[in-house]
Amino acid sequence: MVHRKRHLPEKTCPVCGLPFRWRKKWANCWEQVKYCSERCRRQRQTTGESGKHREEGTPE
Ligand SMILES: [Zn+2]
Repeated sequence: MVHRKRHLPEKTCPVCGLPFRWRKKWANCWEQVKYCSERCRRQRQTTGESGKHREEGTPE
């Protein structure tokens, strides 16, 4: 049971919740990859930031 077929690393996309596998285009930046696709990456950025509500109102 040692060294079977090569196992590609997997991660789970926090946006769509689906697991995705290592791809050749990510060979140099796999550690930084968090999303399964460019689409999810953008979605995360747009939806993630909307939660911030700046309260700039001063009392009085
Ligand atoms: Zn995704």
